[in-house]
Amino acid sequence: MTQDAQQQAPQQEVDVVVVGAGFAGLHALHELRGRGLSVRVLEAGHGVGGTWYWNRYPGARCDVESTDYQFSFSEDLVREWRWSERYPRQEELLRYLDHVADRFDLRRDISLGRRVVSAVLEEEDVTWTVATEQGERWRARWLIMATGCLSVPRLPLVPGLEDFRGDWYHTASWPADGVDFTGERVAVVGTGSSGIQSIPLIAEQAAGLLVLQRTANYSVPAFNHELGEEELERLQQDFAARREFTRSSALGLAAPADPRSALAVSEEERRTQYETRWRMGGLPMIGAFADLMVDRAANETAAAFFHDKIRAKVDDPETAEKLLPRGYPWGAKRVCVDSGYYETFNRSDVTLIDLNEQPLRGITPRGVLVGETEHEVDAIVFATGFDAMTGALMAIDIRGRDGRSLRQAWSAGPKTYLGLAVAGFPGLFTVTGPGSPSVLSNMVVSIEQHVEWIADAISWSRERGTEVFEATQEAQEAWVEHVNAVADSTLFTEANSWYLGANVPGKPRVFMPYAGGVGAYRQKCDEVAAAGYEGFRAVPAPGAERRRADRSAPVVA
Ligand code: FAD
Ligand code: NAP
Repeated sequence: MTQDAQQQAPQQEVDVVVVGAGFAGLHALHELRGRGLSVRVLEAGHGVGGTWYWNRYPGARCDVESTDYQFSFSEDLVREWRWSERYPRQEELLRYLDHVADRFDLRRDISLGRRVVSAVLEEEDVTWTVATEQGERWRARWLIMATGCLSVPRLPLVPGLEDFRGDWYHTASWPADGVDFTGERVAVVGTGSSGIQSIPLIAEQAAGLLVLQRTANYSVPAFNHELGEEELERLQQDFAARREFTRSSALGLAAPADPRSALAVSEEERRTQYETRWRMGGLPMIGAFADLMVDRAANETAAAFFHDKIRAKVDDPETAEKLLPRGYPWGAKRVCVDSGYYETFNRSDVTLIDLNEQPLRGITPRGVLVGETEHEVDAIVFATGFDAMTGALMAIDIRGRDGRSLRQAWSAGPKTYLGLAVAGFPGLFTVTGPGSPSVLSNMVVSIEQHVEWIADAISWSRERGTEVFEATQEAQEAWVEHVNAVADSTLFTEANSWYLGANVPGKPRVFMPYAGGVGAYRQKCDEVAAAGYEGFRAVPAPGAERRRADRSAPVVA
């Protein structure tokens, strides 16, 4: 739809527009509606669920345990929903979010198949006009961007894809009715979490699999299992205490982080600790020692442990060497969680291609061109990730004060106050935005904290009749400085990761999430609120002031 047509489209009015219907958008709708506000959720997909609606590739599942990766806002919901596995599959996560939408009667305020293309601030009465590609316009004082940190898939910039005669897929926009690779030769490009989850299953089905790896990743086994009645009961009984713990933890996970330095213990003790964490399965490994992400020597002990594990799992020593992550600190790229990933390379029908030896030069009509060699395949799977954290926001033409766009404001990298608000964009909030723990945490814990904080801020502002609610430039600058200082004190900045935008050519290289920990961050947000939303300017709308002045002015006949 053209811009002119959009401007002429009829306009509907609500208190709050929420963009996105994943965990964040669903929770925001439920929370704000409960406080008496009118809300409209606009979602590009044709179903709710966000990440779990789009990412339907084989093997897709969460890597935070189901009991921690669920909403806590309703005790009834926690009691009613029975997770089937420690790490449930995408289908079950989507079923859960569909259930949430039905259980809390959310669908009547959600418009599906609506892609938001612009959001423009009217400064006089501090309202946002939000336009969709489908030609609707919504007006609201409050605008909540629940657009997701990993919702804009990226394809590699290699020539020739349009001429490929086979089928190709991106893990994050997988066909809803699945893909059957039986009898096919398949190439998977990318070995991040999505590649590592899907490769073992694609290998089982395909006639042959080529794995194109540019950077090897560190992966911990999931040790996934079905949850029996007894374990479920125990998890449900422990739920409240467990969730409380995650809220003040570093990562939003239930496994306590060990406070010791990896260098303060004997070699034997260190090995025992790593083995124990390894056997726990999944992300608790990250908390094995306190200094893994701040001390290079400590970090190297974790890297060495993983290298030994990989060598022990992979039969062919040459393949094992290629699978050893090198050249960046352990954990500085998102640690992956797998079920049988390394073992897959022991199959005779799976071949690992190291793109550091010969680059992926292009796609040909019959396959992939690596160096001078054309490898013929019937299908290509791109597990090549996302334009993370800022991609979905930058895709929308968001215009704040003086018509200044968010794209301009963030041209040198995202700047926010607490990852929640942006100076110059009153009434706009980001859920798990850059500058908050976000992707460095259990996202559901972080989403709940943000949604509840935002809802409190809106209630506070409404009670005081302060229509303008805006981060000040000074508070934002100070927060950005703090976020950068914390990042610089870690090893995170030493990897070419998507945390830094390094996977998107031309994207400013800025470490986007806040590495100070979920608990410390929550405390800061609570302090800001308790101090009357310190760092925010909360005043009546200029239009309201003017209207009041007009009313009290003497009437001249
Ligand atoms: P999303 O779920 O991404 O939802 C955002 C929604 O906004 C999407 O539906 C999108 O269509 C919509 N949207 C975006 N732009 C627009 C627009 N312009 N107009 C309209 N709609 C728009 N995190 C964890 O903590 N643990 C995990 O185990 C975990 N596993 C993951 C596995 C995968 C495969 C991926 C990709 C991510 C995973 N994550 C995990 C991160 C995950 O994204 C979050 O946990 C969580 O689901 C994010 O919810 P959200 O609502 O913030 O965003
Ligand atoms: P990702 O971590 O960014 O991995 C993308 C992979 O594609 C990387 O191996 C990357 O290599 C490779 N790649 C990109 N462009 C390439 C090119 N031109 N040529 C060759 N290789 C290329 O993306 P993801 O795997 O989708 O995961 C993103 C995030 O989503 C995860 O970190 C995690 O937070 C979340 N996630 C979680 C789970 C889970 O287990 N629950 C599953 C999936 C996703 P380089 O590293 O060299 O760039």
